[in-house]
Amino acid sequence: ILNGKTAVVTGSTSGIGLACARAFAGAGANIVLNGMGAPGEVENERASIESDFGVKAVYSPADMAKPNEIAELIALGEKTFSSVDVLVNNAGIQHVSPIEEFPVEKWDAIIAINLSSAFHAIRAAAPGMKRRGWGRIIMTASAHSLVASPFKSAYVAAKHGIAGLTKTVALEFARSKITCNCISPGYVWTPLVEKQIPNTMAARHMRRDQVISEVLLAAQPTKEFVTSEQVAALALFLCSDDAAQITGANLPIDGGWTAA
Ligand code: NAD
Repeated sequence: ILNGKTAVVTGSTSGIGLACARAFAGAGANIVLNGMGAPGEVENERASIESDFGVKAVYSPADMAKPNEIAELIALGEKTFSSVDVLVNNAGIQHVSPIEEFPVEKWDAIIAINLSSAFHAIRAAAPGMKRRGWGRIIMTASAHSLVASPFKSAYVAAKHGIAGLTKTVALEFARSKITCNCISPGYVWTPLVEKQIPNTMAARHMRRDQVISEVLLAAQPTKEFVTSEQVAALALFLCSDDAAQITGANLPIDGGWTAA
């Protein structure tokens, strides 16, 4: 469904972003990969997208905390493939700490990477989408765009912001055949989740197994992690013609978490 189209996925060297990039490539899209990572590993991911799916993939190391680099990321896609048709604002980081001890620079980084980067990327990609009369903007929000948890002030604020930005963009582009939606996963087993376990252990005075069962999966009635591939399949559906009238939506994929 994406033959001849180009998808830019921010934060696609790992986890959900990488799964989205691979799902879109499987549907025929050329890919602009982005994110941190060891150069050799990133090159392996890039090359395997090309060989596994027969599409082209380029990599941009643009830092999603830097507006000028975000503009360069979109420009790279337009220059290399002559269009950016699908934009997934997915890059994200987490920090877990009580608010009185929350490092100010972590707050600033989370707001920049998890929220402002989406504004900058949409701002840069929208003119081309409008000109071509087709676009799909997808945000990886979170169950934390709908509900909160303690010790995640910056993340919850940024993700609620993403949910609001999604609605605004959907309304602005409603007549331009560009949809904008956010996907709100519950806990997906990725490096982002794994890395927050030590700080959650400290903040809650818990052992590792207690954090997994009493904090992470406690929220999810199914008692199972969501997979990156399940999130990517929903993102791919949002790119289809069948999803043309889904816009401004916040779609949970959270094992029932936000139903409770
Ligand atoms: P991950 O750590 O596996 O991937 C994050 C990606 O973002 C990586 O490619 C990383 O290099 C990139 N990144 C981080 N900082 C960046 C920067 N400054 N510039 C460019 N790229 C940067 O994590 P993930 O779980 O796949 O997270 C992806 C998105 O999904 C995030 O927005 C996260 O908040 C969201 N999310 C994750 C979960 C979960 O349980 N894993 C749940 C809900 C939402």
